[in-house]
Amino acid sequence: MQFGYSETCLDHDTGERHPEAADRLRAIRRQLARRHAVTYVDADPASVEAVTAVHDADYVDSVREFCADGGGDWDTDTVASEGTWDAALASAGLAQWTAERALAGDDGRDTPFSIGRPPGHHATADEAMGFCFINNVAVAARSVLDDGKATRVAIFDWDVHHGNGTQDIFYDRDDVFYASIHEDGLYPGTGALDETGDGAGEGATFNVPLASGAGDADYLLAFEQAIRPAIARFDPDLLLVSAGFDAHRHDPISRMRVSTEGYARLTGRVREAAADVDAGLGFVLEGGYGLDTLSESVATIHETFDGRAPVEDDDDPSEDTTDLLAEVRAIHGLA
Ligand code: ZN
Repeated sequence: MQFGYSETCLDHDTGERHPEAADRLRAIRRQLARRHAVTYVDADPASVEAVTAVHDADYVDSVREFCADGGGDWDTDTVASEGTWDAALASAGLAQWTAERALAGDDGRDTPFSIGRPPGHHATADEAMGFCFINNVAVAARSVLDDGKATRVAIFDWDVHHGNGTQDIFYDRDDVFYASIHEDGLYPGTGALDETGDGAGEGATFNVPLASGAGDADYLLAFEQAIRPAIARFDPDLLLVSAGFDAHRHDPISRMRVSTEGYARLTGRVREAAADVDAGLGFVLEGGYGLDTLSESVATIHETFDGRAPVEDDDDPSEDTTDLLAEVRAIHGLA
């Protein structure tokens, strides 16, 4: 893979003991250095115009001023420092780079993965929350649509939390398909089955809230039986993965049980799904708070694109999952 990375993203200082810390990126880079050759690309930061295409201008101004004043607690868990503004623009710019490279045909060993921070998928049009200020993947999707580089973009969000911000931003649009697998009942509490979009966007939001404790087999089945056919039906030019790694069985903040190898297997399926519809494929980092599990998972995905076949196993999905998927398929009219 080629990784989008900017030193500026380290300047978002969340203080001591915050799970979303600069050490996350350092850990990923240390782990990747032990593996095959890795290419890093720094991209231009997002322009304010690209950001205000998805966020309210007043909100964007207030984030900039908040950071210029030295930052502090935006809410109980979303913390900014003076460097957060530039880091957030850099993080969004890296996501734009991912979308553009994927659409330009970079695939296989050149598949783009932006490892920016702060993450983005909880940020709504007018509010920061859940460690997120600018919705990176939304800025990326919107900018390639506005630039005419794509006509339809699909976002698959496998972070353990529901990407309420991404869903909200595109809820009434029919040119962005948003699909999420997340832990039911976890922060921020959105992402119910019946949240399916509104108006022209009806059907273009697709939620699979798996029960706590779901593991590799559940995630793979949910992707194969629900999300993959829905992506095929939507037929995007570009598939962006909101790639969080907090569903890992050893991540400190969820109760899901995805393994490092599970992320590799899921990546293989995602890659097939993109190829099936001839869509570009790119990855944008979201959460993931165990430094070892985060960095090993990212490195394993890198190796998957480098030709390493994921190890399959024969776990069975739970009955909760098969029941839920029948419901999801019925709601979305998938035969
Ligand atoms: Zn998360």
